[in-house]
Amino acid sequence: FDRRWNFIAMMPQWEFLDFVAEEAGHYPGFRLERNAEATGLVLDGGRVAGIEVGGREIRARLSIAADGRGSILREAAGFKVRDLGAPIDVFWFRVPKTRTPENETTGLFASGRIMALIDRGDYWQCAYVFPKGAAEAVRERGIDAFRAEVFGLAPQLGDLASVTGWDQVKLLSVSLDRLESWSRPGLLAIGDAAHAMSPIGGVGINLAVQDAVAAANALAGPMARGEDPDPLLPRVEKRRLPAVRLIQGFQKAAQDRIITPLLLRQGGAFDPPLALKLLNRFPILRRIPAALIGFGYKAEHVRSPEQGRLPGHRLL
Ligand SMILES: Cc1cc2nc3c(=O)[nH]c(=O)nc-3n(C[C@H](O)[C@H](O)[C@H](O)COP(=O)(O)OP(=O)(O)OC[C@H]3O[C@@H](n4cnc5c(N)ncnc54)[C@H](O)[C@@H]3O)c2cc1C
Repeated sequence: FDRRWNFIAMMPQWEFLDFVAEEAGHYPGFRLERNAEATGLVLDGGRVAGIEVGGREIRARLSIAADGRGSILREAAGFKVRDLGAPIDVFWFRVPKTRTPENETTGLFASGRIMALIDRGDYWQCAYVFPKGAAEAVRERGIDAFRAEVFGLAPQLGDLASVTGWDQVKLLSVSLDRLESWSRPGLLAIGDAAHAMSPIGGVGINLAVQDAVAAANALAGPMARGEDPDPLLPRVEKRRLPAVRLIQGFQKAAQDRIITPLLLRQGGAFDPPLALKLLNRFPILRRIPAALIGFGYKAEHVRSPEQGRLPGHRLL
């Protein structure tokens, strides 16, 4: 493992998106439209010829469905979804914190309860994990009971006085699935729209970005030369599928072997699976999941004829 990269850089997603938009802005043909909700596909003789945004048509030689795990474009395209099953949902909320020199992001595990605390400087981004479908039952117990439960697991959050109502606690639905085919003529699905990732391991964004890089590497050159992108679309899926299968396999195993047994447990000690015991016993082995999460499997690298040509342009 390369010692030059033995650190983690945390970049909030909104800052990363601004960074991507700014970099893309160096290309004269790039235009970003905000608050433009895709409502359907424009079809032309069975081929996807663009997307509908409200009542407006935006036509394109190729449309990319990158609209996440609730993708309406993949549904409109009639793609078949293979549901791998996700037994959890998440309550997502913030609690103020005092800044610390070290990032204190952590995971907390106890029988029947799991939480992740993401250190965002002056606040904790908290993820409270519970069995899928149990949101109403948790809400019915009341916000005071919820605060007490969270405090029992994460005393570093204090009395959670800032969490005064359910309007501050957002329900995030977790999915784990993938399309049987990621493309049809004129349309390519990438990221969660092609393969919804669970939060386990915090790798979904990594995979989504790498899908975009693989798609750009496969398509940008030929499309710039005026070639038809349709025959190239299955290549993106073929290239990315091994990494998606592997990581989703790990997520499914973690769900089935660790998360579900922990959430179903009521008291008593948790007997972790052998893999976790080995990681605990031999710290050097932790480099394997760390590398898998940090670099991904079959990592993509940007290949572009523009590399280094545009002023202020940096490539990953
Ligand atoms: C609770 C939870 C926590 C997670 N935590 C992590 C983590 O810490 N690290 C990590 O790497 N992964 C995490 N994941 C997984 C990660 O969120 C996804 O894998 C990743 O965001 C996928 O990126 P994406 O760009 O494909 O989709 P998204 O990030 O979901 O982006 C889709 C975008 O499309 C927009 N959109 C949706 N519908 C439309 C429409 N009709 N028209 C126009 N725009 C639309 C959305 O507003 C959104 O901006 C988590 C997932 C969950 C559920």
